[in-house]
Amino acid sequence: MPDNSSISQLIADVKEQVVYMQELGVDALETAAQGPRSKVQSPKPVEVTKTETVIPDLKSEISKPKSVGSRLAALPSLSKRERNTPLIQAAPSMTKIEAVKITPTEPALIDIASKLEDTMDTIESIRADIGDCTRCKLHSCGRKQIVHTTGNFQTELMFVGEAPGADEDEQGFPFVGRAGQLLTKIIESIGMRREDVCIGNINRCRPPGNRQPEPDETVQCRPFILREIAVVKPKVIVVLGATAAHNLLQVKTPISKLRGNFQDYFGVKVMPTFHPAYLLRDPNKKREVWDDMKKVRDYLTSN
Ligand code: URA
Repeated sequence: MPDNSSISQLIADVKEQVVYMQELGVDALETAAQGPRSKVQSPKPVEVTKTETVIPDLKSEISKPKSVGSRLAALPSLSKRERNTPLIQAAPSMTKIEAVKITPTEPALIDIASKLEDTMDTIESIRADIGDCTRCKLHSCGRKQIVHTTGNFQTELMFVGEAPGADEDEQGFPFVGRAGQLLTKIIESIGMRREDVCIGNINRCRPPGNRQPEPDETVQCRPFILREIAVVKPKVIVVLGATAAHNLLQVKTPISKLRGNFQDYFGVKVMPTFHPAYLLRDPNKKREVWDDMKKVRDYLTSN
């Protein structure tokens, strides 16, 4: 017989999930038995005390981190983080994923590993290196501007998508279209605000017709997001969709198999999940993203 506290917990968990689903616009769910589901933890009540730094010379599009408002950011456990923890370390608990051969044009991953371990980079130096980039053919395929990573570079949570679409190309910021609005809700569902996190893409220029970036394009652009990861040193990276996951993790495993399991990226936890644009097409998949985000939230609150 369950006691009163476990019933209250269950009610709180159900309410939490309903609110999330409503926020994400889910208006119908299958009612058939889904099999056993893991116990959901409610967000813990917190007070906000986070101190964050603004990188001085970046352009105004980089949101200034704020010191109030995030339930999650305020958890005492988040402030325990060691900023200079080595990024290369064993991660025995993580799922083994199938490695793929790196193409000959790929900058050797080991070079990136050494940068990750002890980078001298800054966000400004990375932007300066990118410059008015013409490294791949996307610069001459109608891009209006380069869309850089934005947000809080002191964050513990980073999101990596595929490449800008039309809205992002127009406005110059990642994830500002419909998929971006859904991403904002996904972030808020775990008690954070968009300005608490950092958001970037594997490719910074819009591919024509919103096609996927091609290997000769990703190979040129990806090193910059990797360098940014080394600067930010997030605790968790959420990779959105197959293209981002495959490019970051260098695997070919389908996203439906990868998602929901923390992976290792040189000691940083990576949570692959579905791309918000896919959720717009198939809203039933929001439940899986919610499950994945709860794992992210629980990891951040307990580490
Ligand atoms: N899709 C992406 O992968 N990135 C964006 O910035 C926008 C849409």
